[in-house]
Amino acid sequence: MNVAVLREVQFGEARVALLPDTVRKLAKADVKVLVESGAGEESGASDADYEKAGAQVLSDRAALLSQADVLAVINRPSLELLQGLKPGVVVVGFLRPLEEPDALRPLAAQNISAFAMELIPRITRAQAMDALTSMATVAGYKAVLIAAARLPRMFPMLMTAASTVAPARVLVLGAGVAGLQAIATARRLGAVVSAYDVRAAAGEQVRSLGGTFLEVDLGGLQTETAGGYAVELSEEALQRGRDLIAEHARTSDVVITTAQVPGRRAPLLLTAEAVAGMKRGAVVVDLAGASGGNCALSQPGEDIEHNGVVIMAPLNLAATVPAHASQLYSNNVAAFINLIVKDGALNLDLTDTVVGPACVMHEGRLTREKEV
Ligand code: NAD
Repeated sequence: MNVAVLREVQFGEARVALLPDTVRKLAKADVKVLVESGAGEESGASDADYEKAGAQVLSDRAALLSQADVLAVINRPSLELLQGLKPGVVVVGFLRPLEEPDALRPLAAQNISAFAMELIPRITRAQAMDALTSMATVAGYKAVLIAAARLPRMFPMLMTAASTVAPARVLVLGAGVAGLQAIATARRLGAVVSAYDVRAAAGEQVRSLGGTFLEVDLGGLQTETAGGYAVELSEEALQRGRDLIAEHARTSDVVITTAQVPGRRAPLLLTAEAVAGMKRGAVVVDLAGASGGNCALSQPGEDIEHNGVVIMAPLNLAATVPAHASQLYSNNVAAFINLIVKDGALNLDLTDTVVGPACVMHEGRLTREKEV
């Protein structure tokens, strides 16, 4: 069985779906990997590294696609490219099923089956496949570094003969995977950190990392789904959070925002007025830019300055740490492939508690029509 890996072409993308180490592991399950020439270059893996690991490297993309039984990607490829696949192929990657549910519809006649890495349930059994966690971990870490590099101040408290330097104050909005990694990274750099999240359960995690958890009285409102995700809040509940955030943003040097609600626009947490109240030189890093942003002034994909406050809204921060992001993703994808391959052949069991929920198209039929 052949798994094909493409050189990702999306702007700013430097990751690759499978790295040579994972190619070796897949070989043990009788899975052969075909790689487009140059695919791993930006993640530190040369064509020779792939060949040494047992992969076949091809420069001809059409030839690569025509031999694929499974196509492993980071980003959903163009329709034109997917139409080059032979019938019955399985596609695995970040396919954006919530944002663009109809994107794969034109592939119906090709009997394609497609699995979205972002729909893999957050259950213990699927932890090794949790690519959202992998990428959020990288992004949360890097968000702190880009903020620190932009800030005209240092993070740690220093007591020198010349002066005492006060530690940076970092406010993190949304204490999920990315937020917790941002808190941990900012703490390692010596900052004083506080964080806000609508899920009460996040409080314990924030405190265990040495951060202060900001609590808002939401009147016993249900803020969390059974799956552990936040729900979309009413405007009134959101406003209570915004008031508290504005108050704390005033004294913060850095605000890192990571709040998301799956399939919805990101909640607006840092208003233009709150930014106006921030210190000159303060930095906002908005990790929710791709779903509209948590800061009212964010320009997704751009860095702007507003009254002396820098607002950055990078769209694909994980791709700026390609070697480790690819390492994590590669293992996530391989764990999923192992689940859909038996004795070296495809074995799609949609009753499986991971395979079923991750499926967005089965043999040409969109499987989530009722939900989206
Ligand atoms: P996410 O990216 O969907 O959202 C990030 C954070 O934003 C979440 O913590 C969410 O509560 C918060 N948020 C949403 N709306 C908000 C608002 N209006 N104000 C403030 N904060 C808001 O979430 P995620 O990081 O992917 O994690 C989602 C959940 O899944 C968490 O409970 C996490 O602990 C859990 N999780 C479980 C596993 C596992 O068990 N295998 C793995 C990863 C994550």
